[in-house]
Amino acid sequence: MLTNIRIVLVCTTHPGNIGAVARAMKTMGLTRLTLVAPEKYPSVEATARASGADDVLAQAQIVGSLDEALAGCHLVLGASARQRTIAWPQVDARACAALAVNASATEEVAVVFGREQSGLTNDELERCHYLVHIPANPDFSSLNIAAAVQVITYEIMMANLQVQPVADSGDEELVPWATADEMEQFYEHLWQTVIDIGFVDPAKPRLLARRLRRLFNRARLDKNEFNMLRGILAAAQAGSVKR
Ligand code: SAH
Repeated sequence: MLTNIRIVLVCTTHPGNIGAVARAMKTMGLTRLTLVAPEKYPSVEATARASGADDVLAQAQIVGSLDEALAGCHLVLGASARQRTIAWPQVDARACAALAVNASATEEVAVVFGREQSGLTNDELERCHYLVHIPANPDFSSLNIAAAVQVITYEIMMANLQVQPVADSGDEELVPWATADEMEQFYEHLWQTVIDIGFVDPAKPRLLARRLRRLFNRARLDKNEFNMLRGILAAAQAGSVKR
């Protein structure tokens, strides 16, 4: 089940940290590591700090963008050391693990970690369904990235030990969630539509794009809802051309 959970590191600067993350993951039974544009990798320092978790490093997927890292993901959780100015659903490490483990029974899950210096950008956080904050000293809340991965993966291990199979919810067919890449297509389509129908002036978008993302992230679309809304958008666009 935990093979459905991937740990994503965005633009890591120090290769030693990548190795330490691999070690933290392996101790907690996780093996899927994705590296988005690491600054220096592969590196002997990474291998040294992995101390025996080199198999996790060897299988790590290296990609150029966060979108590629999230391809096929149904649930995305973004770890952040700071309380952000953007209002976004937020959970602590334990609640994050419960969400991740429950979802991983049938879905692909990503937990995303930011740069050592600057964390995740607001744009990157907007790709996440939830922000994860490890409660810490408010005056000194930034853990080393491998320490942050250790805390969250430990909670995942604990949640997995306690997991009870979810009772079958009757004969209602379960529709899979839309994936992160489908949601990006949806947001692009939605944005183009609000422009086409004259709801927004693209020169003055203000906070609309973020608000729309927050709304649909909170709702979490399944595939049927995704298809339905794409259909509505296409019809609205066609209508605005006819008028
Ligand atoms: N100076 C950066 C901290 C980066 S630490 C900032 O202020 O954002 C590197 C990464 O470790 C963070 O991007 C986050 O993913 C994770 N991390 C560190 N401390 C954390 C905490 N208290 N809660 C959740 N994630 C944390």
